[in-house]
Amino acid sequence: MVDITIKKRSQTDAVVTQRKFFKKTARGKVIKVLRERYLRDDVPCGIQDCQACQGPGMLPSAGESAHPSFSTGHFVLPDTNVFLSQMDLMESNLFSPPTILLQTVLDEVRHRSLPLYNRLKALAKADDKRIWIFYNEYRSETAIIREEGETPNDRNDRGIRKATSWYQSHLPRGRSASPSHQPKVVLLTDDAANRRKAEAEGLAASSVRRYVEGMKDATQLLDVLVSVGDDAIEPTRAVAARSALYSEYLPTATVLAGVKSGQLHQGHFNANAYNYLEGSVNVPAFAKPILLVGRENMNRAVNGDVVAVEVFDETEWKAPADEVIDQESTLKNDDAEDSEEEGEGEEVLGQEKKALRSDEKARPPSEKQPTGRVVGIIKRNWRAYVCHIDTASLSTTLPTSLSQQTVFATPVSRLLPRIRLRTRQAPQLLAQKILVTIDRWPATARYPEGHFVRALGRAESKDAEQESLLLEFDVPYRPFGRAILACLPVEGEGWVVPPKSAAAPEWRDREDLRGLTICSIDPPGCQDIDDALHARQLPNGNIEAGVHIADVSHFVLPDNPMDSEAAARGTTVYLVDKRIDMLPSLLGTNLCSLRPHVERLAFSVIWELSPDAEIVNVRFTKSVIASKAAFTYDEAQLRKDDVHMRDELTQSIRLLNSLAIKLKAGRMAAGALNLASPEVKIHLDSSESSDPIEVEQKELRETNSLVEEFMLLANISVAKKIQDTFPQTAVLRRHLPPPRTNFEKLQDILKKRKGMTLDVSSSGALAASLDKCIDPKEPAFNTLVRIMATRCMLSAEYFCSGSVSRDTFGHYGLATPIYTHFTSPIRRYADVLAHRQLAASIAHAPLHPSLHSKSHVERVLDVVNRRHRMAQMAGRASVEFYVGLALKARGEREQGLVQEEAFVIRTFRNGLNVFVFKLGIEGLVMFKREIKFDVDNYTVTIPAELTGKSDATIAVFDKVTVNIEIEKDKNTQRGKVKMTLAKPVDSRNL
Ligand SMILES: [Zn+2]
Repeated sequence: MVDITIKKRSQTDAVVTQRKFFKKTARGKVIKVLRERYLRDDVPCGIQDCQACQGPGMLPSAGESAHPSFSTGHFVLPDTNVFLSQMDLMESNLFSPPTILLQTVLDEVRHRSLPLYNRLKALAKADDKRIWIFYNEYRSETAIIREEGETPNDRNDRGIRKATSWYQSHLPRGRSASPSHQPKVVLLTDDAANRRKAEAEGLAASSVRRYVEGMKDATQLLDVLVSVGDDAIEPTRAVAARSALYSEYLPTATVLAGVKSGQLHQGHFNANAYNYLEGSVNVPAFAKPILLVGRENMNRAVNGDVVAVEVFDETEWKAPADEVIDQESTLKNDDAEDSEEEGEGEEVLGQEKKALRSDEKARPPSEKQPTGRVVGIIKRNWRAYVCHIDTASLSTTLPTSLSQQTVFATPVSRLLPRIRLRTRQAPQLLAQKILVTIDRWPATARYPEGHFVRALGRAESKDAEQESLLLEFDVPYRPFGRAILACLPVEGEGWVVPPKSAAAPEWRDREDLRGLTICSIDPPGCQDIDDALHARQLPNGNIEAGVHIADVSHFVLPDNPMDSEAAARGTTVYLVDKRIDMLPSLLGTNLCSLRPHVERLAFSVIWELSPDAEIVNVRFTKSVIASKAAFTYDEAQLRKDDVHMRDELTQSIRLLNSLAIKLKAGRMAAGALNLASPEVKIHLDSSESSDPIEVEQKELRETNSLVEEFMLLANISVAKKIQDTFPQTAVLRRHLPPPRTNFEKLQDILKKRKGMTLDVSSSGALAASLDKCIDPKEPAFNTLVRIMATRCMLSAEYFCSGSVSRDTFGHYGLATPIYTHFTSPIRRYADVLAHRQLAASIAHAPLHPSLHSKSHVERVLDVVNRRHRMAQMAGRASVEFYVGLALKARGEREQGLVQEEAFVIRTFRNGLNVFVFKLGIEGLVMFKREIKFDVDNYTVTIPAELTGKSDATIAVFDKVTVNIEIEKDKNTQRGKVKMTLAKPVDSRNL
């Protein structure tokens, strides 16, 4: 990107274009706006060694001559639609002609789609691309003004042609003056009318497809093209004969009016992982989600889309299905080449009908949910999905075949439908993980249609699995670019806190806390130490305790490239064997890591606490600290417990610990919940090999709790302070109380199976009743109930204090009326914002204007909330992948089946959902033979004629033994965990 510096010159010389328009203000006043544009003749063309411009250049002066249609060299100049619809092509590493990106195009992309605009900006900066941004609207020869009666679209098209023509004439003359030997500037556009106009003006123009067909890597690149219009996947039957499988969506205006009037309901579509024929939409008007049963009612919604739903009459409401319905087995005979053909299509529909019918048995009215159908899409949330090619859908698997085939791509996620796509590379893509984008889903097609983006590598190879996991959860993982790294201190790893002096900016308004006995306590191997603590006895009998957090906002300044990148990433993502940082590692692992024995900048929260851990007062200050030690939880625990240790550090830990116990007791008394999520730890046997050897449950020590209590206290104190100072824009975190109906099922199961009650009237009541869910014979039972209760809750979220009503600020799980995140600014962006607000509230630095803007804070927090959710899911998926590897290795070592104990957590008409405690994984046990299912009592009974002995009844909460195998799906080559029962019955043949 070039920076435009405005040179001063006299007003009379300046070529000025003016645009007048009227604008209505928020208060309804009409004002006249006059926009002036100063045109210049020194906006550089970007061509190397251009004598006329003498500006910076990166486009080769002879263009690119490898394309057979343009052997005298060429540049491409794509129009807006090329970027809007073919971004995957533009991003492909096989596509890199010298490219001119016009300002007109860039602006139009920004107005049409922010995500695509961000991709385009990243693309323009990429080192392997040759893209020059030309500010055509500022250069006098290429700037144009909209003419009377001209649409903005036509105006832009004309501007793009004008720039193309200018470039063509501006190109340096080669050795030969003959125009036939000149490089060409090729206008790339899929608008046929625009191409005709361009050709009439003597310009070179091409459609994207024709251009790509001439390229060396056409085979691969054609796959990447989006299927639109005429290029869409052709049905083998005449189009006219195809009847619509789905109803058409209502017009947008009708949908919006319907939502406004309350006739329709708007919400996110959630697919059901167990049953592909069912989905649901949560809407504010109903306590229970609206159930969408069957394809017709889901009407082409894809998981995550924002849809408009029409709710059926109450007589049609029903309970969700109690059967596992798997897309792959039900649809395995569907043909990708001809999915609308009679016969097979009918057969599939018949099977689906049967699957849906089996649910028609009477169910208790309390289980009924509103039902409805999707009548419109408010926003598609389609992105690239990680998939496998389904071997069975290939017409030929000959590796030498380059014929075009229509095949199925099966997404890794069970929440997504299969995608039809057309490719010439199908045989080469088998057994690979690939990335596929959905382009469209016409009402006449059973499956959405998409295109291949790129291959990720062999399935089950660690690199491919890791990358696909990052893509699946939309984790930005590109290395930090130069502009971002340029925001770091120039001293790099050599940066130190300068000697104390009034002149050093680092020491301005900073307390010297280097003398305090501060230490950090973290998990083993922790590199990004963002918090440290201290405590000491005060002469008045009270205790001073301090939490010191890395002063990240000293290094990450608002609105520079590093800040924008951190805001976009939102959080550091932790995978089993990889960490994807939110900030460059120089900060995370060095300058902002509160390592022992080095001076570091910190932001400190210091309390005076009574011996009963009551806050006497609290203050906040920027500081310089020098930590005296970095302990692991174990080391700190040993030290605390060792009666011979009497040094200052140990005393400090003991003081902190005794306060933490009281703080925790206070929180629990206030009704905080002790929640549980399945947490397992993967042991990697060495740094070279990443084959896990063991999976074990995470163990929590007293010192974990010590650190946690003080972090909670710091977050609460900071939340109060920034909310007091900035009541409209404070960055806070809340956890809404769950709707009671969320617990109904779990309450019923507990009552019927265990005779236990769960009181959900408040978090305190819930906490107390969870404590009583104890099975003396089964210590893990209590944790299991906690895990299941946690799943009934909503997730915590960041919010802007001025955007929600004051009485919804509370954090349900922590039972605190106000909360924020302050303690991990290295790895969470919300904390960086809280730091800035806290610094402003103690008058250390003025608040950046963006943090006074409610809409800005809301926008940033929306991204952060989403990234946060995705990061958690990515982390869990990474653990699951390694658990899978460990199981596979164990299976090979133990020559046969791996067996583990598991709890039944859900019963289906045709199977069981089990939770393997030791491995922290869930699985499905499916029965192919008919079994008895008692929906009211949550049991399945395997009849005597199948067991060979007597009837075997299995209920929710029963402990069973399962065989665990990693089975390779022969169609998709995907490794899947397969579970069968070993005890009480062997279910392998059932
Ligand atoms: Zn030039």
